[in-house]
Formats: sequence, structure tokens, C-alpha cells
Amino acid sequence: MRKITLSNGNTVEVECLSCALTSGLVEPDGGVILETEYFHAHQDVAYPIEGLVILASKRHIKCLDELTDDERLDYITTMTKIRKAQREILGIDYVYYFYNEDTTHHFHTWLVPRYDWMNEFGRSVESLRPVLLHARNHRNTDENHQKVMCSIKALKTALM
Ligand SMILES: [Zn+2]
Repeated sequence: MRKITLSNGNTVEVECLSCALTSGLVEPDGGVILETEYFHAHQDVAYPIEGLVILASKRHIKCLDELTDDERLDYITTMTKIRKAQREILGIDYVYYFYNEDTTHHFHTWLVPRYDWMNEFGRSVESLRPVLLHARNHRNTDENHQKVMCSIKALKTALM
């Protein structure tokens, strides 16, 4: 079991956070953004960044080549829908996609929006971790939390 700190400060102990989220055991901040037959999209629960969406498979798999044909189609279609909503609803010009097979969670892709405040951490993959830590340690304010909740609501409405 692993202990995970959520953005609201609570901790949960789970075997696989992705399983806990996609099964509804852990309720992500703002709830489910979009659910399809094979995938589940939610706001990241650890880092308060508007429009930071995690797209997780419902099946407990690790690697891209484990996706079935139907899952693969659902994956790219769903990710594209979310990306389009991020652009149209939240005005997000660029997204960093991050997906790592070597994880204790299961198959999930991070759609990390790029904001101007992130530029001080660089513009490459190395900037990702500092950006996320900065968000968790310095942007965990009530005001920012409200903005994140609003962005979740807006995305949900756009993706209904
Ligand atoms: Zn899992």
C-alpha cells in the first residue's frame, strides 16, 4: 500500500491510485471530468493547476501495447476531445503530455497545460517536476483552488 497526499491535504492509502480513482473509491477534486467505456478523466488530485487533466484507463494495465484496438481508439479520441476543450474553454495554447509506463499506478496520461508562470522552470521535459512541485507548494491557496474548481466545471460542461 502507498500513502498519497491529495491536494486538499488528506492522505489515502491505496494499492493503485488509478484503480482507486477510476473505480470511484477516491473521489477526485471536482469529480469526474469525462468518463468513457474504457477511460476516466479527472483533475490531478495532487497538483492544483487549472486544466491539468489525467486520463486513466479503467483497466489495470501499464503499457501502451497492452491496449486493445477499442481502447486505443477510445484513448486517442478522448484525449483529443479533452485537448480541444482545454483550448476552447480555458484558452490553453500548449499542453505537455506525460506518460510513464514505469509507475506504481496504472496506465494514465497527464495533460499538463503550459502557463506563463511555468517559464521560469524552462521549456523542456525537465521543467515538469519543478512546475508540479511549485504548484503544490506555492499555489495551494483558496483562491487558486477556486480557479481550479471553476476550470473543472467548465471542462465538464464542455465535454458533456
Ligand atoms: Zn490500477
